[in-house]
Amino acid sequence: MAVASLSGLTFTTLEPRLTDSHGRVIHDLRVSITDRCNYKCVYCRTGEVGAHYPELQIEEYLRLIRVFVGLGISKVRLTGGEPLLRRGLVDMVKELATWRTIEGEPLDLALTTNGHLLEELAAPLKAAGLNRVTVSMDAVDAATFEQITRIPGSFETVLRGVRAARAAGLTPLKINCVLLRGFNDNQVEGFARFAREEGVVVRFIEFMPLEEGRLWTPEIVVTLKEIVERIGRVLPLVEMPAREASETARRYTFADGVGEIGIIAPVSQAFCGACSRVRLTSDGKIRTCLFSQVEHDLYGRLRAGADDEELRDYIVRTVKGKEARHHIGEPGFLKPSRSMVHIGG
Ligand code: SAM
Repeated sequence: MAVASLSGLTFTTLEPRLTDSHGRVIHDLRVSITDRCNYKCVYCRTGEVGAHYPELQIEEYLRLIRVFVGLGISKVRLTGGEPLLRRGLVDMVKELATWRTIEGEPLDLALTTNGHLLEELAAPLKAAGLNRVTVSMDAVDAATFEQITRIPGSFETVLRGVRAARAAGLTPLKINCVLLRGFNDNQVEGFARFAREEGVVVRFIEFMPLEEGRLWTPEIVVTLKEIVERIGRVLPLVEMPAREASETARRYTFADGVGEIGIIAPVSQAFCGACSRVRLTSDGKIRTCLFSQVEHDLYGRLRAGADDEELRDYIVRTVKGKEARHHIGEPGFLKPSRSMVHIGG
């Protein structure tokens, strides 16, 4: 039986670890704290003002996260929508940074952002106790970048945010780039040079069918194999060993040892067998897979007055039903009812 002490509260867990019925241990929680976003990336959003899901109070997210941490969650990633839009974020990080895992270690606290507001927020977030940040950037030339985000001036703003994050010590700084054939696949080689020049880890992500519109086809996906071949032609790559089984990215360094890139290949080389993640949406629903067809209303339980014990039981039961894998590209594949921006990436 494990004992956790969080912000002065001590409680016990009946399960030593949160596990699913496929034998996977779940230790990674992604929490969307808003599904609002200040960008309208063409591969993610339609550009129309759509409806948003409700947001919880920051205290309510904290209460739910605390129950997850009591069940063995050791890594919390705050996301959205755009999490830097959320008022109360810095204080939320400050609180989370005081918590301990059931092993008594500090939580691994990370955040994913488009970087637009990072120049002002990097130092306060680091001071609050954030460990790492991942910035999404889908091009290294300003014109392509702004065609994708549809926000004039966004490239320079994000670049300043990236540099502020590095200067604040939010490292290793990761840059995530979703590649789409015909949109930004001409950026691959430029990103390899960017990784070396800026001292950041660039991670290419295969495009998944999670957009608001209907853009995804197998042909638009730029696969791991193709990315490795293309970079290898200009800068030879050497694959690095995985640090842990649940690592999503295949990691490469350059032959001269300077710089690192990663490739996350959920489409061409799915890693569901090693998945250690669950998600909490901005309105407090548990999603056990990005491609879940069902959501589990954890916040509904909280609102109805459930105590921590009841919330814990609900989470344990829900996670047991985590899907074995996704079915992207297979006949009968169904897109989930929410797009990436409303789930939390
Ligand atoms: N606004 C924050 C950001 O831009 O990083 C957090 C939310 S955003 C939805 C998280 C990540 O999901 C971004 O890196 C984005 O590029 C990625 N993403 C969005 N739609 C995607 C898709 N269909 N396939 C793969 N990645 C996607």
